[in-house]
Amino acid sequence: MIELAEALAIIEATAVPLPPRRQRLLDASGRLLAADIVSDVDSPPWDRAMMDGFAVRGEDLLARAGSVVELDVVVDLAAGDVTSLAVSTGCCARIMTGAPMPAGADAVVPVECAVEETRATHAGGKVRLLDDRFRPGQHVAKQGAAFRAGQAVLAAGQTLGPGAIGLAAEAGATHVLAAARPRVAILSTGSELVPADAVPGFGQTRNSNGPMIAAAVALLDAEPIPLGVAADRPEAIRAAVAQGLAADILLLSGGVSAGDLDLVPGIFRLCGVEKLFHKVRLKPGKPVWFGLLHRPSASPTLVFGLPGNPASSLVCFELFVRPAIRILAGRPREEWHLPRSRARLETPVRAAEDRPVYLPCRLATTAGRALATPLPWTGSSDLLGLAAANGLIALPAGGRRFDAGDEIDVALLSSIHDESGHAATGRPASARSVSPQKRL
Ligand code: AMP
Ligand code: MG
Repeated sequence: MIELAEALAIIEATAVPLPPRRQRLLDASGRLLAADIVSDVDSPPWDRAMMDGFAVRGEDLLARAGSVVELDVVVDLAAGDVTSLAVSTGCCARIMTGAPMPAGADAVVPVECAVEETRATHAGGKVRLLDDRFRPGQHVAKQGAAFRAGQAVLAAGQTLGPGAIGLAAEAGATHVLAAARPRVAILSTGSELVPADAVPGFGQTRNSNGPMIAAAVALLDAEPIPLGVAADRPEAIRAAVAQGLAADILLLSGGVSAGDLDLVPGIFRLCGVEKLFHKVRLKPGKPVWFGLLHRPSASPTLVFGLPGNPASSLVCFELFVRPAIRILAGRPREEWHLPRSRARLETPVRAAEDRPVYLPCRLATTAGRALATPLPWTGSSDLLGLAAANGLIALPAGGRRFDAGDEIDVALLSSIHDESGHAATGRPASARSVSPQKRL
């Protein structure tokens, strides 16, 4: 059995970013760019009207500053319209936002500055303009003012957020070189498991880990590959494991502790998976297994044996699998692990004697102070508390009692759980001390 920090160090030292892939721009949303994006156009691509009004020659207005100027409207230009007509002295164009400025014109007088009865003037008519605040070049976005063709508008390493996606589209990048999306095979083991749409018979248990882990994988922008359930028979597990080893990560749940049917470590060995650790001093999640399969012509497959108990499985996912997925996806170090915060306890809790404990809690900020309320939790098979949690209280080993008002560490789950929470299951534990269950 190893310490949590040691286990995390092993994962960090083992996982390496997948080679970036060329992908469609929209598919790369939220991922890290692996190469600069260079624009093939100026932005704006031409001098663009930024108001609805009249495209004028500035000199015509400046010459008669402060008085009404009458101009001949020679053409109507809506966005998308182009003209070969030039605006000469004494003339203007009726123009709408987004249209290219006609030759000769260099400023837009907003339609509100036209004398009211001439505001609707179209080509062929005369408009009378009075603009007290007229400045040369007003309401025109000049060609290339934002960026030039040939300029790198997005740099490798940037995240493709919505703004960056829009900019890439404007720059003509329909496909981009961006971080790969890790492919994560998910296998549940256990002869007792039945699918969620079955009513479990006596001795049977619904497979909650399968959908839970798939959701957790998808929320990290990785691709879940559900492999269903393998019964506790060596051939069944081995066949499914062989299939899962083709993915970047194999997440298997159940069968990793020390029971008669905990066949998984032996099967991993037979499949050539090198064990890097088995069992971590942690509650819940002690039985967790981690290893690596080297592949001749691809990146190695990372293999996790998660505990069968659902709450343990999810805690192990958040602590161990999350950083592995983040690293494979090329994310920066500060995004590998759940963020941590100090908070004050709302109700007392007792640490376990022998292992660090992770307890589901609701974290709220009141008057700038973070307050953590432990949620009722009956142990490692109980998902009720975790489903309502937005944090995990992290208590060190040593059996210490933490009182209301004490400062504790919380790992934040809020990015993956509903921030508003739901009172139905989010009810706080009673004031009694919540002590972690014996068999986690
Ligand atoms: P195991 O780690 O295989 O000994 O399983 C520990 C406990 O977790 C047992 O009560 C199993 O029935 C339960 N369990 C294992 N796999 C799942 C699963 N996929 N969904 C729900 N419970 C599970
Ligand atoms: Mg089992």
